[in-house]
Amino acid sequence: MSKPYPAWICWDCGPKLGKWYASGAYAGPKGHCATMHFGTCDVCGKHDVPCTEPRDYGHLVDDWNLIDRGKVDLWA
Ligand SMILES: [Zn+2]
Repeated sequence: MSKPYPAWICWDCGPKLGKWYASGAYAGPKGHCATMHFGTCDVCGKHDVPCTEPRDYGHLVDDWNLIDRGKVDLWA
């Protein structure tokens, strides 16, 4: 079963799943500003972590849900 596309994603998950980071290095626009806030990550479920929208990581790779699944089992 697939999770819905996350509204918020934390600093841990974003670089793992964001397209701008898919090559292992940040490839997004220079000086891109992300509005971070402390909240709950919709991907890993951690609370009180710096979160922002998936678009601030260049949106997530198509199989973000598959990549994330193994990790989810650890805390579920
Ligand atoms: Zn997360």
